[in-house]
Amino acid sequence: MDKGLFVEIEAVARQHASKPLIQFTDGEELTYQDIIGKAALFSAALAKFGATPGDRIAIQVEKSVDMVVLYLACLRSGLIYLPMNMAYQESEVAYLLSDAEPVVFICDPSLEAQANSILGEGADFKIVTLSDQEDGSFYEFVDSRGDLPPIATCEADDVAAILYTSGTTGQPKGAMLTHMNLGSNAKVLVDAWGFSEQDVLLHVLPIFHAHGMFVAINTILMSGASMVWMAKFDPDVAIEQLPKTSVLMGVPTIYGRLLGHAGFASAARASNMRLFISGSAPLLAENWHRFYEDTGFPILERYGMTEILMHTSNPLNGDRRAGTVGPTLPGCELRVVGADGEALPVNEIGEMGVKGPNVFKGYWRNPEKTAEEFTPDGWLKTGDLGLVDEQGYIHITGRAKDLIITGGYNVYPKEVELEIDKIDGIEESAVFGVPHSDFGEGVTAAVVLAAGKEISEQVILSAIEDKLAKFKQPKSIVYVSELPRNALGKIQKNSLRDRYADLYN
Ligand code: AMP
Repeated sequence: MDKGLFVEIEAVARQHASKPLIQFTDGEELTYQDIIGKAALFSAALAKFGATPGDRIAIQVEKSVDMVVLYLACLRSGLIYLPMNMAYQESEVAYLLSDAEPVVFICDPSLEAQANSILGEGADFKIVTLSDQEDGSFYEFVDSRGDLPPIATCEADDVAAILYTSGTTGQPKGAMLTHMNLGSNAKVLVDAWGFSEQDVLLHVLPIFHAHGMFVAINTILMSGASMVWMAKFDPDVAIEQLPKTSVLMGVPTIYGRLLGHAGFASAARASNMRLFISGSAPLLAENWHRFYEDTGFPILERYGMTEILMHTSNPLNGDRRAGTVGPTLPGCELRVVGADGEALPVNEIGEMGVKGPNVFKGYWRNPEKTAEEFTPDGWLKTGDLGLVDEQGYIHITGRAKDLIITGGYNVYPKEVELEIDKIDGIEESAVFGVPHSDFGEGVTAAVVLAAGKEISEQVILSAIEDKLAKFKQPKSIVYVSELPRNALGKIQKNSLRDRYADLYN
C-alpha cells in the first residue's frame, strides 16, 4: 500500500485489461480497461471543480456503474468518496453535506431541485447531476480528448472514503476509511474466500454501503474477477443469472426471499455457484439449515461493520457453522469484555472489542466521538454482544447499542424518536425492533400521547414521511399509556420487544 489503493487496483486491471469487469443482465459488457479508462476521464472532470487531494466528493445517485467509476476516480485523484443512500430525505442530506463540506455534490437529476434548496440555505458546494443512464450535467465536464491528471500518490493512512452512520445519539457521523483499511481488507478477503479471476460475482446489493461497495467491489477488483450487475435485487432475475455466476454476497432478507422462491433451489443445485456469503444482519440458524437442505450449499456467514469492514468469517475450507460468524480473519483481533472492561474467558458473553488494519481512522471532524468509541489501549467498542467458543468461533448474541437492522439496513432508534417527538400532541416515544419474517426486524414505535389527544397512525406516519428515509419509518405504531422504565428512569426496550414480539409474524 505504498502509493495508495488505486495503484494496486490499476496493476490488476492492466493484467486483465480486455476481460469483462461488469456484465449486464442483457449481455452487454464493460472491460477492466473500459472502467479504468473512464475513471481517468472522471478524475479529470472532478479536477475541473477545483477538487484536490483530501477534498470530499458527495454522491447521491442510483446504483450504477458510473458510481463505481466515480469511486475509482476519487481513489485515483486522492479525493474522498462519500456515497449516500438515495432514500435519504432532504434534511438528512442537508446535515451530511453541512458536516462533510464537499467540493461538489453529484446527485440524481430527480434530486437537483432539492440540492439547490439545500445550497440556498448557505452551504457552499457545486451541484451536478448524474443519472444511471450515463447522462446528466456531470458529463459536460467529461472530455475524452482532454488532458488526464496524474495518479495521486496516497499514503496508507489517507482517507479514501467516508460512510455516514447514524449512531445512538441520532446524529449521523462520518466513518473515515483509509486506503489501508480498504486495501488490506480486500486482500484478506480475496484469500479467505478464495477469489480468483475465474469468479463471477452476482452483484445485487446497494453500493452506498460498505457491504456492496467495498467488500464486494474491492474484492472483485483485487482478484481480477468479474461481476454480473443487477441494479436492484429481483429473485427472478437473480435465478436467471445464476448459471453465469460463481459467488453471491447477500443479506439474510435476500436469502429469505430466494428460499421462498419456487425455482431457486433447483437453479442453485444446477448452477456453477461455489459460494453463498451472508452478512450485515444475523442469519437465523434455521434459515441456514433450510438453505443447506434445499440447495446443498452451506452459507458462509461473516461479521463486520461500516467502521471495520470485514472482521470475522466462517472458513472457506472447513466447518461452516450455522448461527456463528466464524473465527477472526487474518490480522484481525477480537476480545470479549465484561461490564468492568476486563477480558472474559471462552463461552462468556460480553461486548466485543476489535483491533486490526481494517479498523477505521475515526469519525470525520469528531474527535470526541472517536475517543468515546475506543478504549485507551486501542480497542474499538463494536456495541455488539457475543462470545468466542473453544474452537475460536464467534457467536453474536445481541447488541449493547440501540440499533435495529431491517432488511440489512441500520436504523438508529434515536433518530426516529427525535422526529416523532416533534409532533404536536405526542409526549414521548420509543422506537424498537421486533422479529419480522422478511426484514429480520421490523421498526416499531411505541408512543405516549399527551392527555386528551388523539393522533392516528396515519397522521404520525405522514408527519415523518419527508424527514426520514423510508426504511427508517416505523412499520407500526403502538399506543401505550406510559413507556416501561427501570428504577433509574431508563426506557426498557427489552420489555417493549417482548410485549410486541408477535406483531409481524
Ligand atoms: P453496518 O455498519 O451497517 O455494516 O452494520 C454493522 C452491524 O451489523 C454490526 O455492528 C452488527 O450489529 C450487525 N451485523 C453485521 N453482520 C452481522 C452478522 N453476520 N450477524 C449479526 N449481526 C451482524
